[in-house]
Amino acid sequence: MLFTIKAVLFAMIALLSIILISIFITSDNKNYSIVRDSYSLGTIVQLKAYGSKAEKAIEEVIDKLNEIDNKMSVFKGYSEVSKINTSAGEESQVVSKDTYFLIKKAVEYCSISGGAFDITIRPLVELWGIGKDNSQIPESNELTKKIKLVNYKDIVLHEDTKSVFLRNKEQQIDLGGIAKGFAADEAKNILVKHNIKNAIIDLGGNIFALGKNVNGLPWRIGIQDPLKSRGQFVGIINIINKSVVTSGGYERYFIQDDKIFHHIINPSTGYPSESDILSATIISDYSIDGDGLSTGIYIMGLPKAIDLIESIKGVDAIFINNNKEIHVTSGMRNNFILTNNEYVYN
Ligand code: ADP
Ligand code: MG
Repeated sequence: MLFTIKAVLFAMIALLSIILISIFITSDNKNYSIVRDSYSLGTIVQLKAYGSKAEKAIEEVIDKLNEIDNKMSVFKGYSEVSKINTSAGEESQVVSKDTYFLIKKAVEYCSISGGAFDITIRPLVELWGIGKDNSQIPESNELTKKIKLVNYKDIVLHEDTKSVFLRNKEQQIDLGGIAKGFAADEAKNILVKHNIKNAIIDLGGNIFALGKNVNGLPWRIGIQDPLKSRGQFVGIINIINKSVVTSGGYERYFIQDDKIFHHIINPSTGYPSESDILSATIISDYSIDGDGLSTGIYIMGLPKAIDLIESIKGVDAIFINNNKEIHVTSGMRNNFILTNNEYVYN
């Protein structure tokens, strides 16, 4: 009798241990994180994801980013965008669902910004050569010629065949002002598909903060000081599951005659934008919206930019102007925390 009770007890303890061990092995170890740095879309990519499936998910994200780069880069002759550009004025090009979606969405932002954001900017960007070895102030007659080519209304979209056509020869699309936003959203979708609950996707400062941080608190995102090196902030915001995208003229530029010539071109002057904004940060649910808006509003300048962002539901902004003032839209008023007293928070 005693022997049987002992045996049953022993069996129960053994069973319990097996159950406990297997729970431990199969449970999603929340604190397990993977950090991966790579290079894609012309920028440094940093991915940090938590959970046991993080490694596989991140591999898939990197593949997707490279796929987007291959389809949309103007620096790759075989890309779908390059094919649209080389057939400008001649024939339309059938493109993938991704490229079609992004161009269509980009055209919406061209229109919303009243043409300050214009993805047919490529002839001007190429002429300036900013970020390349041959950057220079162009001849004014060259500029005048290229300005005439810039007009997003010449992009003809055929929904049924998913094809894109540029009306005039020499017109060229450049998705550099919005592709990283699209890519960040795609990256997020892949992580979510793999059941990742907490992650930071950083595509050269174009950030998506998935879920909360691993301690169950909002992610704290620093807003870059536009006059200091990367990683020095003017303030902090707390966000959950949102995109944070900044446009500014302070990272890609060249200096000539003591003047800075940066990479965001005002389509109406042909010159780098000279608005009062040093940086424009957009906080939104989708990064494509943040990226699509940030470039245009940077060019538009402060009063117009604030009005535009206030008019779009669910989207907020933080602006730093050339008087070192920080202006935020209503949804950020209780969120933005100034950490740098060289700046004035309005
Ligand atoms: P970044 O790519 O540096 O994060 P942006 O999202 O503001 O910053 O995009 C800037 C890029 O957009 C430029 O490098 C250029 O390729 C393109 N671009 C420049 N001016 C314009 C413009 N007025 N409209 C649309 N795209 C632009
Ligand atoms: Mg942008």
